[in-house]
Amino acid sequence: MADMSLAIKRNFEGVFVCQSCNATTRSASGKPTKCRKCNGKAFRPKKKRKKSN
Ligand SMILES: [Zn+2]
Repeated sequence: MADMSLAIKRNFEGVFVCQSCNATTRSASGKPTKCRKCNGKAFRPKKKRKKSN
C-alpha cells in the first residue's frame, strides 16, 4: 500500500489559494508571484483549513 499521507502532503504542498478570487495556483516552491486569474498577490496555503466559523 502506498503512503497516502505522503501523497496528500505532496498534493497540498506548493498549492496556494488566491484570497481575492479563491483560485488555486500551484507553485514548486514558495508562493506564486501573482494570481493568473485576478493578478492578486494575496495567497494562503491550500492545506490550511478553517477551524472556527
Ligand atoms: Zn485571484
